[in-house]
Amino acid sequence: MRTDVVIIGAGPVGLACAIEIQRKGLTCVTIDKGALVNSLTGYPTNMEFFSTPDLIEIGGHPLVSSRYKPIREEAIDYYRRVAEREELTLLLYERVVDLKGDEGAYHVETSKRTISCAAVVVATGFFDQPNRLGVPGEDLPKVSHYFREAFAYTGRDVCIIGGKNSAAIAALQCHRRGARVTLVYRGPDISPKVKYWIQPDLVNRIAEGSITAHFNAQVTAIREDTLGIHTPDGDIDIPNDVVLAMTGYHPDYTLFETFGIDVESDEAETPVFDPATYETNKKGLFIAGTVCGGRRTSRWFIENGRHHATLIASNLAKRLLARKD
Ligand code: NAP
Repeated sequence: MRTDVVIIGAGPVGLACAIEIQRKGLTCVTIDKGALVNSLTGYPTNMEFFSTPDLIEIGGHPLVSSRYKPIREEAIDYYRRVAEREELTLLLYERVVDLKGDEGAYHVETSKRTISCAAVVVATGFFDQPNRLGVPGEDLPKVSHYFREAFAYTGRDVCIIGGKNSAAIAALQCHRRGARVTLVYRGPDISPKVKYWIQPDLVNRIAEGSITAHFNAQVTAIREDTLGIHTPDGDIDIPNDVVLAMTGYHPDYTLFETFGIDVESDEAETPVFDPATYETNKKGLFIAGTVCGGRRTSRWFIENGRHHATLIASNLAKRLLARKD
């Protein structure tokens, strides 16, 4: 199989790249190891985006929502319709395992085939790699780094770990579906990064005692029926049925290493790229979207990451179309 550009990651930013690259007259194949917009399919049921519809649109296609901010289901349907309308070439449920060659003559090896191309764009996001706690018991079946919906937790002792947006949303929803919620956060108070329309709800539920919160608290061990935490007041054993570790996510550093993308020595382990072009240290290999922030996953999101597509497409058109002439 041969194409001008391979895009790895069929999320909103990967799809935006595919659209802009095709519009420049280049051919393009988008590969994903999971479903179309795989991360969005893993978001909580009916999750409301923090962005208004216009800010997560791609390719100039209007996202029509009946609400001020769209929900997960509307967005998934929107991106599917856009991919269809733009006649994107998609290879889904196909994992990229290696990248060989150099600019102009790359070979992308997937679980099913080898694709030859001139350039590659990595837009793989971060949602598949949760930040692990690194404590005993983390692999017990009752522990998850993903919150889907709260119905299953009615009457259960649910511990939520973390103090930012996912933790806040999960805590409130589980509480409202009748779970006994304990929030365990290593910070001194609910993070100021929690959105201003969510934060007071959580603060008030904690103040009235509907949700128990432990701050400056570290999880030490997860057991079948309890959870051990270390707090400034001493060690506590909390009765527990379910752990939702809302500890955030990070890009796939194994993929970066396999591809030869260097990583800065900063705390965020930012991949090396030229901020004017989004080209990495490897010529003809680009990154786009949230992966650009490394472990700083709140630096780039759909709203601002989708604009990487136009920059990358213009750059590729200049190089590759000139070569074709
Ligand atoms: P996050 O913002 O990375 O927050 C992770 C939380 O887990 C932080 O409070 C962090 O503590 C804590 N944590 C990380 N590692 C830990 C460890 N080893 N032990 C204990 N605690 C640990 O993750 P998120 O809330 O899932 O959000 C991820 C991204 O999705 C963000 O960009 C967010 O804005 C976005 N988001 C969007 C929506 C929406 O659009 N509706 C909803 C939720 C999230 P510190 O605070 O000390 O770092």
